[in-house]
Amino acid sequence: MQLLKDRIRKDGVVKAGNVLKVDRFLNHQMDTDLFYEIGLEFKRRFADAEINKILTIEASGIGIACIVAQQFHVPVVFAKKTKTKNIAGEVYTSKVESFTHGRVYDIIVSREFLGKGDKVLLIDDFLANGKALEGLADLVEASGAELVGAGVVIEKGFQVGGDAIRAKGIRLESLAIVESMNEETGEITFRDDEA
Ligand code: 5GP
Repeated sequence: MQLLKDRIRKDGVVKAGNVLKVDRFLNHQMDTDLFYEIGLEFKRRFADAEINKILTIEASGIGIACIVAQQFHVPVVFAKKTKTKNIAGEVYTSKVESFTHGRVYDIIVSREFLGKGDKVLLIDDFLANGKALEGLADLVEASGAELVGAGVVIEKGFQVGGDAIRAKGIRLESLAIVESMNEETGEITFRDDEA
């Protein structure tokens, strides 16, 4: 998605440890005009798919997922990160190792909001090592719902997540795939770039 790649080049900041900061438009300050275009693009890419629910993970996936969901006219459910242990029975749970925070946390979704008959699209802001999407896919499987696919705004193609998710047979659509990024020069290249 050219508009997105241009914006990443303009406003993305390459940080140490393979972290791309996009706080100016994606996950702190949020450019809702860009989000609208992102929603249209996911709708276009999953036009053939039957989807009745979008599942994301708090916090930074929520804004994007809501605007995507408006295109599909379906509800959004977000997995909560929790420390509460005594909730088994009412929720589906999985574990996710955080790329940005380097720790493992539990994620939960109420059984009320996900179940057999649901056709679920996963949405998230970033794909790095794939742990967030894998955790969400686990919740879908545990609920008996059908996983239709996953959409991420930015895939870091030099990390293992994209291959891991595709190897599981999950249909994955990434709107921008970063091929390389240089902390010193700030240069970012994309997988489909002509240059
Ligand atoms: P994964 O589970 O695929 O390793 O990482 C995905 C999650 O980590 C996303 O939900 C996102 O919030 C966060 N993340 C991973 N890489 C980056 C990055 O380079 N920049 C930012 N801002 N978040 C990232």
